[in-house]
Amino acid sequence: MNPLPKTAGGARRQQIVARIKTTLPKLTAPELRELGKTLLAALEVAEASATPAKDRTVDQKPSVVYRKELVRCGKEGCKCSEGELHGPYWYGYYRSPRSGRVVKKYLGKEKRELRVR
Ligand SMILES: [Zn+2]
Repeated sequence: MNPLPKTAGGARRQQIVARIKTTLPKLTAPELRELGKTLLAALEVAEASATPAKDRTVDQKPSVVYRKELVRCGKEGCKCSEGELHGPYWYGYYRSPRSGRVVKKYLGKEKRELRVR
């Protein structure tokens, strides 16, 4: 029994993956590095929820992965466009029980408990 709703069919998912792969070469090294971290955090959550039901227990609240990140604000001419990124700031990642998607929430300079749902 899988409590997570499927968000897209197999063909649609393949399209999404193909589109991401063609976009990757257009990104800069810092952007790719940032994306890599996000990908690993999402993978952790995805693998955890793919564990067979008999091998896992689920808390009332979904588990949250907390991580410090350096970020780019996107403003033209800002120091971060030259690679001097802002932060570090804390972010929390969890899988939404409703949508089944990984949600990323900004927490601020100090780590604080993330209220899920
Ligand atoms: Zn900036």
